[in-house]
Amino acid sequence: MAIPGIVRWRQVGATLARRMLAWPRLPATLVLAALVTLDATLAAARPGGGQDFSGGGGGGGDDGGVWLVINLAIYLLELCVDYPAVGFPLLGLVIIGAVVWYHVNPNRTTKAAVRDLETSALRGLNPDLRQLADRDPQITEEGFTSEVAKIVLAVQQAWNGGDMRPARRLLSDGVYNRFTALIAINRARGVRNMMAESTIERPRVVAVERDAFFDTVHVRVAGRARDADVPVAADPATQQKLLGKAKLANYVEIWSFLRRPGAQTKAGQTVIEGRCPNCGAEQPVGDVVECPFCHALVNSGEYGWVLAEITQASEWRPSSAGDRIPGLEEMRAVDPQFNRQQIEDRASFLFWKWVEARVTRNPAAIRKLSTERMSGFVAREAAAGGIGGGQQTMERIAVGSADLVGVEPGDEGGMDRALVRLRWSAAYAPKAPPVPATNVLVLVRKTGVTTKFGLSGDRCKNCGAPVVTATDSPKCDYCGAEMASGQQDFVLDEVAAPTAVLLHQPGKRRPAAPRPAPAAPAMTGGGFVIAPLPMMMPPMPVGGAPGAGGLAPPAPGFAPQPATAGFAPPAPPAPPPPAATPPAAGPVSPTPPVAPPPGAQPPTPQTQAPAAPPASPPDGPEGEADKGAPDAIPPWALPDMSNPQERAALLSRMAVIAAADGVVTAEERRLLKKCSKRWSVPFSTIEPILRTGVAALQTLGPPENPQRFLMGLVAAALVDGKVDRRERRLLDGVAHNLGLEPDVVPGLITAMTEWRNRQAGARG
Ligand SMILES: [Zn+2]
Ligand SMILES: [Zn+2]
Repeated sequence: MAIPGIVRWRQVGATLARRMLAWPRLPATLVLAALVTLDATLAAARPGGGQDFSGGGGGGGDDGGVWLVINLAIYLLELCVDYPAVGFPLLGLVIIGAVVWYHVNPNRTTKAAVRDLETSALRGLNPDLRQLADRDPQITEEGFTSEVAKIVLAVQQAWNGGDMRPARRLLSDGVYNRFTALIAINRARGVRNMMAESTIERPRVVAVERDAFFDTVHVRVAGRARDADVPVAADPATQQKLLGKAKLANYVEIWSFLRRPGAQTKAGQTVIEGRCPNCGAEQPVGDVVECPFCHALVNSGEYGWVLAEITQASEWRPSSAGDRIPGLEEMRAVDPQFNRQQIEDRASFLFWKWVEARVTRNPAAIRKLSTERMSGFVAREAAAGGIGGGQQTMERIAVGSADLVGVEPGDEGGMDRALVRLRWSAAYAPKAPPVPATNVLVLVRKTGVTTKFGLSGDRCKNCGAPVVTATDSPKCDYCGAEMASGQQDFVLDEVAAPTAVLLHQPGKRRPAAPRPAPAAPAMTGGGFVIAPLPMMMPPMPVGGAPGAGGLAPPAPGFAPQPATAGFAPPAPPAPPPPAATPPAAGPVSPTPPVAPPPGAQPPTPQTQAPAAPPASPPDGPEGEADKGAPDAIPPWALPDMSNPQERAALLSRMAVIAAADGVVTAEERRLLKKCSKRWSVPFSTIEPILRTGVAALQTLGPPENPQRFLMGLVAAALVDGKVDRRERRLLDGVAHNLGLEPDVVPGLITAMTEWRNRQAGARG
């Protein structure tokens, strides 16, 4: 444990005042000199540590303390001159103290731990394209990057024109739909995003990855441009004038290209050159992705490189999880072609369609791509005037990453599930800063359906026609094949908080006793997920009687989170205690779903609950779900502290919790500020949440499983191996606001520390 967190000199003063009463005079002076000087060392060490975020972050010094420090320093020096026998030993003590303090200071250790995680997430990248030479002897860095440069310009040009069709053949369906959804969303707002004076540096390969399904090349694209949202209706001259006013800004992105192993580099025979990468025939003008001559899908990755992801450089990570994804082996046993890249591209595609449907209030956009309960929900939301305009707008939406975290092959006649964790952000008012969020997308398909190869998933698997989303029908508009039920491919079933999703463990209903961790190879993922994955951690020590899940009655002033349209359908009324009622989970479920009986469809909601805040405290459904052994949190639902966006998302959720009762106390504010510094997250990210309080709840709807959320927070606090006093206060505060018993916190700290130690043991 660290020295109690004496960080600000004011608190030092307070501690000191108490000590002075008891201690003899000289030691008291010693303590004073030491503590204050140490704090000065700290103040000097803090700013300018390589933060990822620009702006925000730092801010404010330790007001007033500086003078005292200077005076004491002068005093100390004088002492050295006048009474060297006292002065020099004292100076020595101070220096030793400073060094010790510097190394155990919780701010520094937390920051350092976070930084270490960040660097280790990026360690061991191999940027050498020649490692693909065994499969493709013709590939060269020179040829590849000059092709990428052309692709970047072509994509930017299409974006600038507000029409992505000219670039469609270069893009996976996930990326293409992301662009078109953004354009549609902007159009609904009456604007178009444009760029001017765009220049790019020569692209550089930063990492090459390969597995049995795809070769992946990540390329750094750095450039400079002005960009601005201009009115769609404005004439070109006005648009240019508005653009001219925008700031000329630098950006660095990672563009990830995928290709099927075995595809060959053929000079001049590429999509960007207007050729079919398979047969070399010249392609007609237009956005048809099927070559009219050889019928190859040119953006499937089967024959040539296709752009499958664009990520902010600060958020980019190599695919750390690799193939070590729970359930992946089981899924491959029944569907050998199932692969991570394709499902992630599909998830990104579905996510953007979901966003588009909500923001443009056009449920048809998701009708063929989501289960009935999900599309029904979006339709009801649109009919009720939800998200899509006015105060409920969603703007500047950005996806940081999409990672497959779990797969569950279904029982016969059931549904396969795939869980994809998505990091994204959106602003919910025109001038507001974007609020980061992490969600898990639950994708489902009928058991027995297998993966058809290729990244070109936006088409009917029955007849090959493109999925036209203009009609509000769950069936293919050409051949009438059923699509929304998951008979062809994965469809979207749920967008949930990571802590609210449970794996079903198909065929094995959730066991009453904790299961031993499956023998999986060690993981190298960021954060805490390093040792074999315990799918079920030992039961967490939680207070309270079984059945109540350890949940205390809501704390005074605790306001249950009002339901957010689309995000958080209100919790269903608490089921009668003895009955084993399936939860009426909405598409965005606050309740961990219960495994459906074998052979059954997932439960459909009986009724969509009305859009009013639930009157009952949130212990009804949670209590039910946590009956018996409380479910442990799967490692992927723990916050990944190596990811800046995730740290920001976690801080935002804490801010929402702090603001939920309508009052943000000075203490809460101070602790959150401290947290933001330690995690290198600009405080400005959460400032509006703290200011606007409950209104900001709409931005972060997905209700958490409170206990699991707290577990994640404990893990975050343990990033440097210990929970110091401030972190403890923060945890206590969050637990209180979540309505959890106070003794949950020490129990979780013990359990998570043990878990961490076990992981460290398994690693070393
Ligand atoms: Zn062809
Ligand atoms: Zn069809």
